[in-house]
Amino acid sequence: MDKAKLHLVVIPLLAQGHMIPMADLSLLLAARGARISLITTPLNAIRLRGVANVAADSGLPLRLVELPFPCADAGLPVGCENVDRIPREDLFTPFFKSLNLLAEPLKRYLRAEPPGPTCIIADQCMPWAIDVAGDLGLPRFVFQAPSCFFLLCTLNLARHNFYHSATNWREPFTVPELPDGVGRFQVTKLTAQRFFDWPGQDVVQRHVEKAEAAADGIVLNTFEALEPWCVQDYRRAAGKEVWPVGPVSGFHKDLAGKASRGSDGDYIYASGAAKWLEGRMQGSVVFVSFGSISLTRTRQMVEIGEGLEAMGRPFIWAVKQAEENEEARNWLSEFEERITERRGLVIRGWAPQAVILSHAAVGGFMTHCGWNSTLEAVAGRVVMVTWPHLVDQFLNERLAVDVLGIGVRVGVRWPAFHQWPEGDQGEVVVGREAVRTAVEKAMDGGKEGEERRRRVRELGDFAEKAMEEEGGSSFQNLNSFMEHAIKLTAQRSS
Ligand code: UDP
Repeated sequence: MDKAKLHLVVIPLLAQGHMIPMADLSLLLAARGARISLITTPLNAIRLRGVANVAADSGLPLRLVELPFPCADAGLPVGCENVDRIPREDLFTPFFKSLNLLAEPLKRYLRAEPPGPTCIIADQCMPWAIDVAGDLGLPRFVFQAPSCFFLLCTLNLARHNFYHSATNWREPFTVPELPDGVGRFQVTKLTAQRFFDWPGQDVVQRHVEKAEAAADGIVLNTFEALEPWCVQDYRRAAGKEVWPVGPVSGFHKDLAGKASRGSDGDYIYASGAAKWLEGRMQGSVVFVSFGSISLTRTRQMVEIGEGLEAMGRPFIWAVKQAEENEEARNWLSEFEERITERRGLVIRGWAPQAVILSHAAVGGFMTHCGWNSTLEAVAGRVVMVTWPHLVDQFLNERLAVDVLGIGVRVGVRWPAFHQWPEGDQGEVVVGREAVRTAVEKAMDGGKEGEERRRRVRELGDFAEKAMEEEGGSSFQNLNSFMEHAIKLTAQRSS
């Protein structure tokens, strides 16, 4: 069976930080000849339109499959089709219930569609795909959106009963059995939280673990040279094939491709950001963004703005999650007037992050340490100012600062997320002075600063190399993944 006969059904979690890398992975697979059905829902299809256009322009066999999202059946408001559209904490459970309800319509669609699919790649957070693959007799692979470092730490912690012990949420615990390259360190239940360690989500967590254990293999968005010790140990601990094939954002080489990620494909705004960066000194600009979900409260937003203003360097600040209230709107308008276009660019709405981070003028990135953002910082050779907000981001911060040596902490110790019961209720977590000093330290020309920049440049080179056809580890791993999928498909169908 050749690669052109592979028809992969790709099922991302309906959240930007999962849809974007799985769409990139789909493009990479399609570029090697596989047919792709990328499963989504009407609202999310709008955000995947950019990717569909990239595929169409390059003649790649990638198709968006839109299934209606059963909001009403699960008691969700209409349009609540993505994690960033969940307005209240109590709607998380119905949201994940309605994801389960996609299984039956998907099975009907796949049975009706000739020629049928050959295998499934489903996000770790879509464990119901086990049922679809089982009924259709298809091999099923899990796509892990987080870092391998996070996966290994949390797997080891789980095996030592950390998550079910009566330990209090802030009690320190040493992560067991880590490889030498990582060292020893402590976490708490708040800083080593997995995606479903939320009150009321334990059924989903068990389902996720079961689906992972039964999977035919695991695809990772990382590359071997970035976290080699973790990949080795994780492969051993998982007891199955593991293919690091990232950074998958490496598929996109031009502005249009980079700007297509997570948006409807209208990239005029992205050209605007690129234009703003043109002619600025190499490595002089700071980019500030906290991903697609984390919300910045008004008072916190003011502190960030004042800190950036005091720093006196050019910056781009994505403030799309600023609270929708009059005080926030007024403050932002006054801030923009004060700053003027020359010094700083404020982006409201979706920022073309991959375009910005890959521009030579950008030298620092104040980030929430989402795994995609971390990889994009590495690929762009940009030093990180780390401000984790929730779940895997605290461990990603540890990886970036302590293991890889490419980041400076802003100094947060606990999750500050409006949906978390012990989290931020509107107070200031990081003051303006801490914002300013952390950014200054990251942009600093001294010995330590130079070393961080050297490291991130080196890792950026490794990232590029990993994706190259000639000897790239991720390039080869994707090939061996496809060969394995072909072999399993042939076995199942004989
Ligand atoms: N992103 C973007 N523009 C934005 C916000 C986010 O392009 O305004 C992209 C970012 O480049 C990354 C993804 O959305 O690819 C966010 O994923 P990440 O894992 O960093 O964080 P999450 O949003 O899941 O918290």
